[in-house]
Amino acid sequence: MSTSAVSPVTVSNYVNGKWVESSTSDWLDVVNPATHELIARAPSSGAAEVNAAVEAAAAAFPAWRRTPAEDRIQPLFKLKMLLEDHIDELARLISRENGKTFIEAKAELRRAIENVEVACGIPMMMQGSNLEDVARGIDEMMIRQPLGVVAAITPFNFPGMIPFWFLPYAIATGNTIVLKPSERVPLTMARAMELIEQTGLPKGVVNLVNGGKAAVDALLDHPKIRAISFVGSTAIAKYVYARAAANGKRAQCQGGAKNHVIVLPDAEMKMATQIINDSAFGCAGQRCLAVSVAVTIGDAQKSFRDSIVEAAAALKVGNGLEDGVQMGPVITPQSKSRIESLVAAGEKEGAKVVLDGRNPKGLTGNFVKPTILDGVPAASELTDTEIFGPVLSLVHAHDMDEALAFLERSAYGNQASLFTSSGAAARRFRYEAPAGNIGINIGVAAPMAYFPFSGWKGSFFGDLHAQGRDSIEFYTDKKIVVERWASDHSRKF
Ligand code: NAD
Repeated sequence: MSTSAVSPVTVSNYVNGKWVESSTSDWLDVVNPATHELIARAPSSGAAEVNAAVEAAAAAFPAWRRTPAEDRIQPLFKLKMLLEDHIDELARLISRENGKTFIEAKAELRRAIENVEVACGIPMMMQGSNLEDVARGIDEMMIRQPLGVVAAITPFNFPGMIPFWFLPYAIATGNTIVLKPSERVPLTMARAMELIEQTGLPKGVVNLVNGGKAAVDALLDHPKIRAISFVGSTAIAKYVYARAAANGKRAQCQGGAKNHVIVLPDAEMKMATQIINDSAFGCAGQRCLAVSVAVTIGDAQKSFRDSIVEAAAALKVGNGLEDGVQMGPVITPQSKSRIESLVAAGEKEGAKVVLDGRNPKGLTGNFVKPTILDGVPAASELTDTEIFGPVLSLVHAHDMDEALAFLERSAYGNQASLFTSSGAAARRFRYEAPAGNIGINIGVAAPMAYFPFSGWKGSFFGDLHAQGRDSIEFYTDKKIVVERWASDHSRKF
């Protein structure tokens, strides 16, 4: 399949080293969110197509797991170079199907590449441990072995990064994988798969199946799949976690978010404004680490409100492939109307819209411009619901105790940030904030690939997170070997 052909292209599946056109009669439109141009049709693959991919992965597993770790990582070195060489082309594709700006798309690809780089360290990271003479003449060791066939199911908001939270670690540790990208953005991974194909990986090691719920359910129920990695909304994450567990699978399921930033009066306000502006409105607020509620304390209430409204109003919104555009559209018309009705619900609950980006003029795509609501009640639909759009709610608190209590009642725990110049306040926040990724004077506290992406509460179901050493734990089984051999070392052999 070529993703650079004239639109709309037909997206194929990649199974057992071959591009296969789906036999489904159910096709999903892939539409450019900035222009409403139909750019592709993706198959809603069913159980038979998932089964073919799983069987291919299962057949490839025995030889792949016997391939020395040093040899397994050679295709990943090649993949890094191929991704570097094609980064602009991939970034344009991400922008076309997801809507984010070219610069944001390139930034997510850098994160993808970083994960490939870290997975190249598997020969060190996958090592076990051992101890001689746990009893006289008896040695004990822990070795790690791959699980077999694993699957990853990913969302629309980072088409080029999130699949790489899983794929490089899964295959470097000796597993084979079936990947199911979001049906709304299938083109990026289809093109990345063409690059993966050039790395010389044996057929069946990486397989790509496109589709939605039917494909996910088939993966969750397939007896040959040992582990499921999922990223998406909380309701689906919970569902995937429960169904995977009921079928005896290991699962790591990352869910939605509602991220808070606390702004103390001693924060460096210019820096705080710039960084929070990027966090709240970058990627049109469709990052799972986007700040969506700012809790100002004391005098920060007025100074921060005035400066963030000015900064947000100045953002240039448009087609992410045009020069100078700083914020693109949201993913679908349904998403746009959902975001706009949540803003209306906020107004009804007593919040004041101090920057109104609803229904902007002169833009044809799914555009909502930066929107800010002030005086949002602490317990309200706006503070409880994940909006996943360019909307920032301002809540005020008297002190840190009140602000932390507000964070505590959130159902989510993906990220919490603090802006301050006080080390003591920062330490208290780091210690007490109820979220898995913490930012101190940071707006998007995205862990580097060698740290786990650590969501809490309704933002994560499971125990081992994506990325870094957690990946190695997730994608391997531990085996303990206790050995007794001759302990009389004076014997001649
Ligand atoms: P989504 O839940 O709609 O879809 C995610 C995946 O689940 C897709 O592959 C989709 O095909 C599949 N899916 C959708 N509905 C399904 C169903 N009923 N049954 C089975 N599978 C189904 O999420 P999205 O809209 O693509 O992505 C946005 C969401 O992802 C947001 O909530 C965001 O916060 C979250 N997200 C979280 C993280 C994180 O690290 N915690 C990262 C990125 C995105």
